[in-house]
Amino acid sequence: MKHLPIFMHLENRTCLVVGGGTVALRKIDLLLKAGARVRVVAPRLGTGVAELAANGRVTHYPGVFTTQHLDNCALVVAATDSPLVNRWVYQKACERGLPVNVVDEPGLCSFIFPAIVDRAPVTIAISSGGAAPVLTRILRNRLESSIPAAYGRLAELVGRYRAAVKRRFGTIRARRLFWEQTLEGHVAEAALAGHWHEAERMLKHQIEAGNGDSGGEVYLIGAGPGDPDLLTFKALRLLQKADVVVYDRLVPEAIVDLARREAERVYVGKRRNDHSLPQSDISQLLADLATQGKKVARLKGGDPFVFGRGGEEITLLAEQGIPFQVVPGITAATGCAAYSGIPLTHRDYAQSVRFVTGHTRNGRLDLDWAQLARERQTLVFYMGLTNLNEICAKLVEHGLRADLPAALVEQGTTPNHRVYVGSLSDLYEKVKHLGVASPSLLIVGEVVRLHESLHWFSGEEGGAEVFPPQCHRRDRVTDRSEVA
Ligand code: SAH
Repeated sequence: MKHLPIFMHLENRTCLVVGGGTVALRKIDLLLKAGARVRVVAPRLGTGVAELAANGRVTHYPGVFTTQHLDNCALVVAATDSPLVNRWVYQKACERGLPVNVVDEPGLCSFIFPAIVDRAPVTIAISSGGAAPVLTRILRNRLESSIPAAYGRLAELVGRYRAAVKRRFGTIRARRLFWEQTLEGHVAEAALAGHWHEAERMLKHQIEAGNGDSGGEVYLIGAGPGDPDLLTFKALRLLQKADVVVYDRLVPEAIVDLARREAERVYVGKRRNDHSLPQSDISQLLADLATQGKKVARLKGGDPFVFGRGGEEITLLAEQGIPFQVVPGITAATGCAAYSGIPLTHRDYAQSVRFVTGHTRNGRLDLDWAQLARERQTLVFYMGLTNLNEICAKLVEHGLRADLPAALVEQGTTPNHRVYVGSLSDLYEKVKHLGVASPSLLIVGEVVRLHESLHWFSGEEGGAEVFPPQCHRRDRVTDRSEVA
C-alpha cells in the first residue's frame, strides 16, 4: 500500500489553494464540501472561483503566492499552470510540515485526492496511488451505480440508534449480528423504498424486542428481455441478497449467475404444452420459502406485470401477509424495439402503442380485432409466433393495409437477436421455413419502416437477417432483395 487512506476532519479549518482556474475550482469544491474555509491565492480568478469569491464562500488573496499565505493552514493545494510556482508552493508547504497536493504531479504530493463516492455520511475513497486514475474512475462509477443513493440517509437513521443498540445488546457480537440482520433486512429495504417512517418504526421495534430481523421476503423481479445489462440496479441488488432464486425459461443463465454463489436455484420453467410447475404451485413455493425465513428472488423475463402472471404469483403472498416487492423490468416490447431500431411511437407514424397477447384461449385468438385494426398505432404481439399467420390475416381482414410493415424480432437483445421484416401479407410466407425460434415478438405498424435506417444492434452471428419492407412511399423506395 503506497498511501494510507485516512479521512481528514476539515470543518472550519483553513485550507490554501494556489491557483484560480478550473482545476483549482474542482479541488475548492471538494474542500468546501468538507466544510473547510478556503483561502485562494491567484493574480486572477476564473469565472467559477470568482463567483465563489463574490458570494463569500472563499477568500481571495489577489497576487502571487508568499509563505505568509501558509499561516494557520491545515492543508495546501497547488493548482496553477506554472510548474515553477507549483514546485515552490510544494517546497514551502513541506518545510512547514503541511500536507500538500500539486495537482497532476504525483511526485509533488504528500497526499492525494481519491476518487469519491459520496453517500454522506458514508464516504468511499478509491485510489490507485496515482498509477491509473481512469481505472479508479471506472471503479468509482461501478460503485456509484451499485450503491443506492439512499444509503447516506440510511446510515444517518441507524446512526441515531447506535447508542440505543449498544445499551440493549451487551456484547459486540450481539450488536454486530443485530446490525447485519437489520441492514440486510426489512428495515433497510423499507428505507431504500422511501418508507422512512416505517423503517424507523421497525428499527425501534426490533431494538425493543431485542432481536434483529430474519424474516423471509419475496422479490418479484423483472429480468428484462435477455441482455443482462438491461437489468436494473435494484434487480441486481435484490438478486444478490437472495437465499433462493426461482426462475423460468425466459431468464438467461447469465442473469441467474449474478445471484450469490451459495444461493439455491430453483427452475420452474414452463414450455408450451409442458407446464412443468402449475402457477398455483409456484405461488405456494414462493410462500413456503419465505415462510421459512428465506429471501426469495422470483426472476421473470421482461416485466413481471406484462404478460408475466406476476399479479397471480403475489396474490397468495398478499393474502398470507408475506412481505414482497415488485421490481419492474424492461419488457420485451421496449427491449426488442430499442435493439431493432423501431421506435414504438413516432410523431409521424404512431400516436399510441398496444401490447397484445397472441396466445390462444381454447384454441381461439380471442381479440377485439376492430380495435386493433386502427391506423396510426403500433401493435406489439407477445406470444404470437405460433399464430403469426392468423394474426396477420385477421388484421387485414379487419381493415389494415396488406402492405403495412411488420417485423418479427427473434430472441431480441440476446446474441441471437434477429429481425425479419415484411408486410402483413408476406411476413409469414417469408419466415415460415426459416425455423424462427422462441421467444419472438411481432411488431406491426408504420414505425417498422424506421428499422431500415435506425437498426444498430446485431447479434453475435454478424447481423440481423433483414427483409426490407416494400415501401409504398416513393421517396423511400429501395429495392434491396433479401440479405441473409
Ligand atoms: N413478461 C414478459 C413477457 C412474457 S410472455 C415481458 O415483459 O417481456 C412471453 C413472450 O414475450 C414471448 O412469447 C415473446 O413474444 C416475448 N418475449 C420475451 N422475451 C423476448 C425476447 N428476448 N425477444 C423476443 N420476444 C420476447
